[in-house]
Order: sequence, then structure tokens, then C-alpha cells
Amino acid sequence: MEFSIVAQTLEILEKTTSKIQQASTLAMLFKRTPANVIDKVVYFLQGTLWPDWKGMPELGVGEKGIQKAIALAVGVNESEVEKLYKSLGDYGLVVERLKLGKQSKGSGLETFIKTTKTEQKKLDVDTVYNTLAKISMLQGEGSRDMKIRLLTALLMQADPREAKFIVRFVEGRLRLGVGEATIMDGLASAFGAPRDVIERAYNLYPDLGAIAKMLAEKGPSVLKEIKPTPGIPIRPMLAERGTDPVEILNKTGVPALAEFKYDGERGQIHKKGDTIWIFSRRLENITHQYPDVVEIARKQIKANEAIVEGEIVAIDPETGEFKPFQELMHRKREKDIYKAVKEVPVVVRLFDCLYVDGVDLTSRPLPERREWLKKIIEETDAFKIAEHMLVKDAKELETFFYKAIEGGCEGLVVKSIKIDSVYQAGVRGWLWVKYKRDYKSEITDTVDLVVVGAFHGRGKRAGTYGALLLAAYDPDTDMFVTVCKVGTGFTDEELASLPKKLEPYKLPQKHPKVYSELEADVWFEPALVAEIAGAEITLSPVHTCCWGWVKQGTGLSIRFPRFIRWREDKGPRDATTTKELYEMYLKKLRKISEKPETKTEEV
Ligand code: ATP
Repeated sequence: MEFSIVAQTLEILEKTTSKIQQASTLAMLFKRTPANVIDKVVYFLQGTLWPDWKGMPELGVGEKGIQKAIALAVGVNESEVEKLYKSLGDYGLVVERLKLGKQSKGSGLETFIKTTKTEQKKLDVDTVYNTLAKISMLQGEGSRDMKIRLLTALLMQADPREAKFIVRFVEGRLRLGVGEATIMDGLASAFGAPRDVIERAYNLYPDLGAIAKMLAEKGPSVLKEIKPTPGIPIRPMLAERGTDPVEILNKTGVPALAEFKYDGERGQIHKKGDTIWIFSRRLENITHQYPDVVEIARKQIKANEAIVEGEIVAIDPETGEFKPFQELMHRKREKDIYKAVKEVPVVVRLFDCLYVDGVDLTSRPLPERREWLKKIIEETDAFKIAEHMLVKDAKELETFFYKAIEGGCEGLVVKSIKIDSVYQAGVRGWLWVKYKRDYKSEITDTVDLVVVGAFHGRGKRAGTYGALLLAAYDPDTDMFVTVCKVGTGFTDEELASLPKKLEPYKLPQKHPKVYSELEADVWFEPALVAEIAGAEITLSPVHTCCWGWVKQGTGLSIRFPRFIRWREDKGPRDATTTKELYEMYLKKLRKISEKPETKTEEV
């Protein structure tokens, strides 16, 4: 298949933010894509070479390398490429412009020869994909030059538009604004497959390329055969948030299973014989960060094959007390993992079981899954089932909540044990409700917001950013809507490191998926997630979160926001949603109306 068809589609996709239009454009592309390359096309659309859980594909070409490859491919000086980049701010546009310039300059015989040459050697999807895969796999001495050479050859063969998208892909900035949901919509309409069946398949087997290939080769019925498989992560079930015990139990029903909410890293542990994998909440393979957990899981899981879930929590080796989530970052940064294992020991608190020796448990109710968990785990201090209690009423729930706080936890996760309490992979629903409390602020819970822009600092903050523009996620429109600017709560070190930390996500203009009425000094691709505490949620004429939901011409904002920490375990679409913020706002209003003596806010 010619790569120009993909490039053409990418250009159409880039120009629209309508999800419906994007899905129908994708459906057209999928229909004309042969089954043997459809997986590669889907990965390209996602800006990747394979799903992250197979090992993050890193092209490792870098800005200088891209500059050089463009210069060599087009036959200009690197300084010219650099100069053009300064005015366009996008290497994709740079290469396109240079190639177009070359084409128009060539005249007569030269153009004729060139056109005939390109016509003979049109780029195909396989060549593009395989070259990029080769670039990502090259390592060690001399690999940098080799990578640049391969990229140069690819760019020479590409037409201007193809070159633009190849360069953006290599830079990791395809910026199409096409999410996995839209790709699934496109697949559903191209292959006549029910959307929910595709989604369930994807939740159990998060590889859209592979799913597209199965659909193209065998048709929709094949998706029903997808089952949990050790080594392939399952998208995690998530919890809604509650702030009132009575309301929480209304949602879950009674009795409910209340469990300590540990403040660590979620780990999905897979076992097949002696092989263990650990996947993070974002489905990254984090096995290498926890050799101690691997060893213990291998010993204490008694089934031959199993998938269990738990929270990996750092502990103080002296006192055995839990330490906060940030301690685990040490495991990610320390090169010598065995040193990190010694310095930051961890324990695992298990809370679910999704698969045992050929039996798919995801559609079984929670009590049954817990029975399986008990059966296959031999508990030790470091590897045991989460503290839990069957609660019958709000009073019991409240008492258990304080026990969890005293025990060094964030609060509770309250879970339904009704007959329909299945494992809803990839879904945030009311079968699980988290109950946390942040005593320091009126907002009973912190929120996780995405950095979409920044404002230059002045005075003491010159040279770094004075404030970041933060957004919530609206899953219905797949847009990021602004909530607040945050400039407090950062340590001096964090402040100084902001420009470097945000550099990879810098954009020349606002990202198409960002809806903001404010003009930031610098725009970013929505990628980094920050945890924010604040005084309260208020109406705002400036911020676009829940725009018009409460009152025409106003959105929701957070007053006195304060940076708490980076949530490196969350992706932009895992951020707090508009719906969640809206609920939090309504709760606040309800509280105000319950207490007549409190000054009511002007609405
Ligand atoms: P948060 O930011 O509040 O941790 P989240 O968005 O990462 O939430 P949620 O599903 O909303 O994820 O909240 C539940 C999270 O709490 C899980 O992802 C898991 O990491 C953690 N957790 C700790 N203890 C438990 C438990 N007993 N049961 C389920 N999840 C638990």
C-alpha cells in the first residue's frame, strides 16, 4: 500500500477536530488498507510502532539528528534548516517547505527525471514502518550515524507531505488529535463490528493494531474469542469518587466491601510458569523496577497461570510503616535497581484476581474473584490481601475510614459485591468508589490536571515559568478544557526544572484538542499530569471547564490552586474529568444550602 494514502488521510485528520468526521475519514482509510499492513497503519496513526507495553519504542534520533537528516535529504546546509525551524517551529513543516521549494526550482529535464524517478519508487507503508522500526532498534556504537542515514534515505524517497509526517512521527509530535476512541469508531464503521465488542476486546488486549488486523482478516466474530492472557496487560478498572459515606453506600449497595486505599503504584501482576510480568496503571511494563516483587510473586502465587492486581507500596524498613507514593519514583530513576530495592523496600497489597489457569474471571462478581485470590495466594507480610471489611452502614464505613487514615493510607475504596460486580476493564464506574480526604483544603479531594500551557515568570522567576495553565479532560468531546493557572506549591528545584521538563511537549500554537479562552505564552501538547489541591471550586468567566453547564457564559475553576506533585503514572486522558469537577461543584453547593448560616456564593 502506498504511504501517500496514509499521508493524505493524516492531512485531512489534522484539519478537523470533529470526532465524527475523523472517524469517517479513518473508516475510509481502513476499508482500503490491505489486512497485512493495517496494524502498521494504526500504529502510525497512534504515533507509535507498537503498543507501549511491548517495550517503549524509542527512535532516539534527537533534534540535531533530524536537522541533519533533513539537510542531507534536501541538499541544503544544516544552518538553513535551523533558520527555517526558528520561524516555523515545526520540523515537519520545515522539511515540507524545503522539499516543495526544491520541486518548484527544478525545471525542464531535471524535474522530468525527478518526477519519473519518484513515480518509479513510491514509498509504501511497509518500507516506512520497517525503516522506522529498524531505526528504533539500532543501538550502541555508530548507531546514531546509522539512524540518521536511514532517516535521510527515507526522506529522500518521500514526497513533501509524506516527509512532513515522517519527521513529525520521528520527533514524537504527530499531533493529530486522534484518540484511541476515534480509531475504534473508525474500525467499527469500516468492518461493521459493534463498537462495544471492539472496546471490550481492546480492554482485554490493548493493542489496536492487532485488533484491526484480526478484524480485517477474520471479521468481527473473532473479537469475542479474546480472553485475558498472561503477558498482555488488561486495562484497569477505575473508581468513581465519593465524599459522603451514605451516598457511597447508596451507589454500591450494602453490604459493601471496604478496603484500605494504599498510596502506592498499581501493579497488575501476571504469572505464566516461572515468568512474571508487572504492568502499571498506564499498562507500561514495569517488571524491571520490581525484581523483589517478581521473586515474591513467583513464590507466593500458587497457580501456574494467573493475573492478579494490587498496590505496590513503599515501606520504611525500620518501622514497617507505609511511605508516600513519591518514594517509588526512586525505583524509576535509579540506574542500579538493586540499590533502589535496598533503599526503598516495598510490599504488595492485593485486591483483585482476573484470571487463573485458563479461567477468565473478569465477568465474575467480586466475591467470586476474591475467593480465587484467597485460594491462589499464600500470604506473607510483604504479599497479602488488602485490609478489608464488609460494611453494613455509613457508621461502620466512617470508622473503617479513620482506621485506614491511621494506618497511613489515603482512605478507602468501597466496592460493590452485588451479582453484577464484574471487573469492568478500562471503565471508571460506581462499582468502585474511592473515599479520600485531604484535610488541608475545602476541596475534599485533590484533582489531577493536565499541563496545556505556561506563562513566563518575572523577577525572581525570570528564566522559568511563573505559572502553568492546567486543564481537565472531557471524554465526551475528547478535549482538554482549562481549569486554573497554578504558580504555587512548587519547590525552588521543581520551579527551576520546569522549562526542561516541559520542553519536549512545546508547540508553536495551541494544541487542537485544547479549548482555552486564555492566551498562554507557551503552549504544550497535553501530556504531563499534576496533582492539585485548592480551596474551592468556583464559577469562572475565563476558564472553559464545564462551560455553560452551571450558567451561560461561565465555566468552573479552582480557587487558590496549589501544586502537590507530578502524577507520572497518569496519562492526559487519565486526568480528572469535567464530569467529576461538576459533581464536586454540585456537592459544594449542596453543602452550602444545608448550612444556611454560611454565606452563599453569588451564582
Ligand atoms: P487516585 O489518583 O485517586 O489514586 P486513580 O485515578 O489512579 O486514582 P482510581 O481507580 O480512581 O485510580 O482509584 C483507585 C486507585 O487506588 C487504583 O488505581 C489503585 O492504584 C489505588 N488503590 C489502592 N488501594 C486500592 C484498593 N484496595 N483497591 C483498588 N484500588 C486501590
